[in-house]
Amino acid sequence: MAVSRKLRMGMVGGGPGAFIGPVHRIAAELDGKIEMVAGAFSQSAERSRAAGEAYRIDPARAYAGYGEMLKAEREREDSIDFVVIATPNHLHLQVALAAFDAGFAVVSDKPATATYAEVLRLEAALAKAQVPYALTHTYAGYALVREAREICLNVELGEIRKIAVEYLQGWLSEPIEATGQKQAAWRSDPALSGPGGCIGDIGTHAFHLVEYVTGLEVTELNAVLRAVVPGRKLDDDCTALLRMNNGAEGVLLTSQIAAGEGNGLRLRVYGEKGSLDWRQEDPNRLRLRRVDGLEEIRHAGGSYLGGDARAVTRLPGGHPEGYLEAFGVLYREFADALLGAEAGKKVELPVTLPGIRAGVRGMRFIDRAIESSKHEKWIKF
Ligand code: NAD
Repeated sequence: MAVSRKLRMGMVGGGPGAFIGPVHRIAAELDGKIEMVAGAFSQSAERSRAAGEAYRIDPARAYAGYGEMLKAEREREDSIDFVVIATPNHLHLQVALAAFDAGFAVVSDKPATATYAEVLRLEAALAKAQVPYALTHTYAGYALVREAREICLNVELGEIRKIAVEYLQGWLSEPIEATGQKQAAWRSDPALSGPGGCIGDIGTHAFHLVEYVTGLEVTELNAVLRAVVPGRKLDDDCTALLRMNNGAEGVLLTSQIAAGEGNGLRLRVYGEKGSLDWRQEDPNRLRLRRVDGLEEIRHAGGSYLGGDARAVTRLPGGHPEGYLEAFGVLYREFADALLGAEAGKKVELPVTLPGIRAGVRGMRFIDRAIESSKHEKWIKF
């Protein structure tokens, strides 16, 4: 493409009252390289129009459905360049396939699809379509997650022996889906969420963070999934043991009934020589400890940080960056790759940006964890 204009995006989902759609819009536009110009924001034409008005886009480009959006945009000279998928999980595959067919690149929210079988279809279709595809595992965009990753890949902790990851939330401690709470309602419905509840919604983030930061792969797991709140159809709590491809072992705790917790994602990695500890609710500090106990805190914005962290830092030290900025990093990497590609050449997305491989691994994780829990045993990944 190698163009100097902004990329144009069209969103599916993100209608009135939605959580992540508006976050995508802010994050995408943060660095001035992308502009949201179109959308099919809701399954209701009227609500899609209302959302378009609130987003201040051309009313003619707030479509009644994503099929209509793709068809109309294909015919415009100033058409969208890519589609953002911010709907409940059951629509991810069908929207992505339709976008590929129309020749558009895709930024999809996680999990990549609703089921493992679906992600294999997605992977095959993408291999044919050869369009750029990114998956918004938000936490991969934090500067200090990039620093932690560089530390692990440079073997600064020595051989990794133990991993503890936890992603604890408390907002589903009560059956709020029964009150019609929008986000809870689809997340606890297998037809809309897929077979995983908590394990798919936030367990996949924790799983991704482990493989992303350590560069290791889970080869076996033993998981216990429970639906703790009476009447809930999908798991709301999970405890899993992980075995990694270098022999390290890990524990993954994820729950949405951890009363009082907000967005408690935390990763600890222990190597022969030391360890690291990163917490999403305090994301601008990375704690490192050596085997002799010497402790070091690295701060976002520090001039001493590695190249990967500095590349995604926008502000000097002491000026906190957070969730929106981390999300924006993923969009900036996506935009830079598309805008910088030479005409006619395949767009190469950076390895730091999660894509289809992360999508397939994440769906496999859900599938394997459910299987392990059902049979109450260790299971190959
Ligand atoms: P939500 O219920 O708040 O919003 C979903 C939106 O999709 C709604 O506006 C709804 O009207 C719209 N929608 C439903 N069917 C549609 C259709 N056929 N066409 C167009 N729009 C339609 O849900 P949410 O919490 O924003 O989650 C959406 C997705 O984002 C999920 O897949 C979820 O897993 C993911 N998510 C990711 C993160 C992250 O950190 N990356 C955080 C939250 C949610």
